[in-house]
Amino acid sequence: MTPSWRLLFAWAWALPATVTGDHDSSRVCRALAETLPGFVAFPDTPAYEAHNAYWSARQSELRPACFVAPTSAQDVARAVRVLTKRGARFTVKGGGHTAFDGGSNMDAPGVTLDLAGLDSISVSADRRTVSVGAGNRWINVSEVLDPLGLAVVGGRVSTVGVSGLTLGGGISYFSGMWGWACDNVRNYEVVLASGELVNASPTVNADLFWALRGGGGSNFGIVTRFDLVSFEQGELWASTLVYPGTVTETLIPLVHDLLVRELPAAPAAHTFFVMAYVAALGGYLTLSDQFHARYSDILCPPAVFAPFHNATLPKLFVYTRLSTVSRLSLDIEQPRGMRQAWWETTVAATATPDLLLDIFSMWQDFVERLLATAAADDPTVTPFLIFHPIPLNVLGAMQVNGGNALGLEPEDGPIMIVQMNVLWTSAVLDDAIQDGLRDLVARVETLAASRGARQKNGYIYMNYAEKSQDVYAGYGEENLARLRSVARRYDPEGQLRRLWRGYFKL
Ligand SMILES: Cc1cc2nc3c(=O)[nH]c(=O)nc-3n(C[C@H](O)[C@H](O)[C@H](O)COP(=O)(O)OP(=O)(O)OC[C@H]3O[C@@H](n4cnc5c(N)ncnc54)[C@H](O)[C@@H]3O)c2cc1C
Repeated sequence: MTPSWRLLFAWAWALPATVTGDHDSSRVCRALAETLPGFVAFPDTPAYEAHNAYWSARQSELRPACFVAPTSAQDVARAVRVLTKRGARFTVKGGGHTAFDGGSNMDAPGVTLDLAGLDSISVSADRRTVSVGAGNRWINVSEVLDPLGLAVVGGRVSTVGVSGLTLGGGISYFSGMWGWACDNVRNYEVVLASGELVNASPTVNADLFWALRGGGGSNFGIVTRFDLVSFEQGELWASTLVYPGTVTETLIPLVHDLLVRELPAAPAAHTFFVMAYVAALGGYLTLSDQFHARYSDILCPPAVFAPFHNATLPKLFVYTRLSTVSRLSLDIEQPRGMRQAWWETTVAATATPDLLLDIFSMWQDFVERLLATAAADDPTVTPFLIFHPIPLNVLGAMQVNGGNALGLEPEDGPIMIVQMNVLWTSAVLDDAIQDGLRDLVARVETLAASRGARQKNGYIYMNYAEKSQDVYAGYGEENLARLRSVARRYDPEGQLRRLWRGYFKL
């Protein structure tokens, strides 16, 4: 490449997002319909409304100029060529589970590519690899694998998309043994900004393979197929315990103990811990969801979780069972169609549970303020605080195949992912809820820093983050520079950065 061409491409990469293009939405959609006849849905049609179904109401109230619904990788490539040639803005929907508006949908003149038609699933003859089309949801995968006695490191909730979860990381029932979903991809099939279809694996386009392992999709290309590692797996042991809010402060030290001591000794175990204020159920509740992939006695819990089952702890509900992945993922399905805000920060484990107890107390202050103001007008307002323990065994399992892009290493662990969510109905409350959560996250981060417990890089889990959070800064400077250089290599003109709206940009 001559120096002047290099300069031109460097300039193109640095262009602001407001670059001009063909924003006549009807022209772009007509061109797409000519290229992919029968696969473009226009407003006010049943097909359009079917594509415009999202988990969060903040997403489904957006109205793209049209939906494009490819059914093959070649169709995706054709659509990308039409969009980039015309400089038309677009976004991509996998399972559509992003909480914030614009994560995987957009208003006209933008166009949304819905990948739901990429729905193939096939198991290799040696049973070690499952090839999954990018439009699948986790229930589609587990319903194929359960009867075969196989599983993959995938999502825990049935309707969540394979694509978004795997590209951003992917916390799974099986993470204690094998790491996150992104650590268990053998190969990605990807449509690049140029429309070229390539593979990315440890031996082919290895830099792109590394970047896609947790680096998100929207900077690199549209993944059309994931080849996932599969393994033999029967039913899991699972227990759901719901406690009155009054015992939360007794339980949090047990959660801390799981993170620093118990889980590394029991890699087949997995858990998360939810604190919520549910007006319809009378106030504060706490839930411990526990899973064990190598245990089968439903009368006696595995030692790792035994303290939570202690008879002296008051419980509102206990449900212990052996279950397939499909049934488990249906059990913890979340309601659709509400307004949702998800925010996240990550703290390093401290020697005592005090930090977690103080975060709980800060969250309760936030809930009380919310109840006194916003929630008075909307009885559906439901705030959550969720602790996701990431013990050393998970961080260790993330280092296979050259490690992932997330910048999480065993020497900086263990860590606790702290998720702060609210669901509600009335759009009038959007700003108040978002301001309250932004302030809560800032206060939790300041508290953690004052105890020397901010995660080293300030890691924020992309898949639990709100759009204004600086996710990539938390991957660490070195990984961020490497991700940018991979994006430049595979999209030298910066077309995806300019045209693909939503989610997080490098
Ligand atoms: C009820 C619920 C349960 C959840 N459970 C878990 C869990 O157990 N573990 C966990 O780690 N996370 C979980 N999450 C978070 C989840 O990982 C994210 O919401 C994730 O983005 C969902 O993926 P999706 O494909 O459904 O989302 P989408 O909103 O469709 O996509 C997310 C992002 O990925 C991009 N994208 C989608 N498909 C592709 C593709 N093929 N190529 C390139 N980019 C693409 C989209 O443009 C968007 O930017 C859960 C979320 C919800 C709402």
